[in-house]
Amino acid sequence: MKLHNFNSGPSILPQQVLEQASQAIFNFNNTGLSILEIGHRTKWFVDVLEEAKQLVKEILQLNNDYEILFLQGGATTQFMQIPLNLLDANETAAYCDNGIWGSKAIKEASVFGNANIVTSSKDKGYTYINKNFAIPTNSKYLHITSNNTVEGTQWFNFPTTTVPIVVDMSSDIFSRPLNYNQFSLIYAGAQKNMGAAGVTLVIVKKEILGKVSRKISPILDYKTHIEAASLLNTPPVFAIYVALLTLRWIKQEGGLQEMEKRSLQKSELLYNTIDSLPLFNCPINKEDRSRMNAVFFIEDEKLQNNFLEQCTTNGMIGVKGYRTVGGIRVSMYNALAYESVVAFTNLMKNFANKNG
Ligand code: PMP
Repeated sequence: MKLHNFNSGPSILPQQVLEQASQAIFNFNNTGLSILEIGHRTKWFVDVLEEAKQLVKEILQLNNDYEILFLQGGATTQFMQIPLNLLDANETAAYCDNGIWGSKAIKEASVFGNANIVTSSKDKGYTYINKNFAIPTNSKYLHITSNNTVEGTQWFNFPTTTVPIVVDMSSDIFSRPLNYNQFSLIYAGAQKNMGAAGVTLVIVKKEILGKVSRKISPILDYKTHIEAASLLNTPPVFAIYVALLTLRWIKQEGGLQEMEKRSLQKSELLYNTIDSLPLFNCPINKEDRSRMNAVFFIEDEKLQNNFLEQCTTNGMIGVKGYRTVGGIRVSMYNALAYESVVAFTNLMKNFANKNG
C-alpha cells in the first residue's frame, strides 16, 4: 500500500534527499568515509556548512546584514535564547499570543524580562490572527509565530513597525516568497521543511546583538556562535548535511515561488473539499488558514474516530490532531506530493458519502 505522510514534524522529506543522505552514510562525496565519520573541522564539512549558509541567504534573498547559524536544542531553546540575548530585565518585549508555541515563548521571555502580550486570539481558541493591534514603540522586539502548527493558522501580512521583528518560522520556513529582510531574527527547527531533527536555523541581524547588560554564557551567546562560524562545539553534522540536501532540492525545484505554488494547490484542494462537505468543519478564520497545517473536525466524536481509523487503514499517516486540540490535522509541507492530498480528499468524500 502506498503511504501518504502527513506528519506534522518530523515529517516528509523529498525522496531525492533521502536517497542522497543514505548514500552519504556509506560514502560521503566519494571520500570512502561516512558523513557520520568525518570531523566537523575538516574541509569536507566546512564546505557543507558554507554551502548551506549560502543557500539559505540565496533562497531567502537576505542582504548582508544577516548571520546564519546552525544551532542545537530545537526551536524551544530559542524561546529562551532570544530573550537571554536581546531582552534586559527591566525591558519589555511584545509578544503575539496565537497558539501553543507562541505561549511557550512568552513564558520563557518572562524569565528574563517583561513579556507584553500585544494581541491574543486565545478568546476564540486560537482560530484567527488579529491584524489590528498596537505595538508600543519602546518594545525591544516583537515576537510572532508565523505558522501555528498546532492550531492551523498562518500570518500572511506582517506588521509594519520600527520595532525589530523576531519570527518563529519552524513550520513554514522555505514555503513562500516574502521580504525576509523585514525581520531581525528568524528561527526554525529543521524537522519540517528543512530536513532532519537535530538542527535549528537561526538567522540574525548583527545590529540587534550586544545590547543587553547581563553576562551571557558563551554557549548561549549568538555572538560567540557567529565568531565561531557555527563551529563553537561539535555541530549536528548529519542534520546539517540533510538540510544542505533539502536546500539544494528547493533551489533545483524552482525556489520559493515554486514551493508556494505547490502549497497553494495542495491547501486549496483540501480546504475546498472541507468546505464542500458538511460533515467536516474547519473553525479557522478563512483568511488565516495555514497552508502548511490544516486543522478540522467531525463533530460526532465516534464518527471522527471512525474516520481516523479509516485513514490508518488507507495509509494516511499522521493525521490525528495535536493532543490538546483533537480533531484532524493534515500537514502539507514542501515535500508532500499533490497526489497525496488528492488521495486524502477522495477518502474524505467517500467517507462523507457513506456517513454524511
Ligand atoms: N515552534 C513551532 C511553530 C513548532 O511547530 C514547534 C514544534 N513543532 C516548535 C516551535 C518547537 O520545536 P522543537 O521541538 O524543535 O523545540
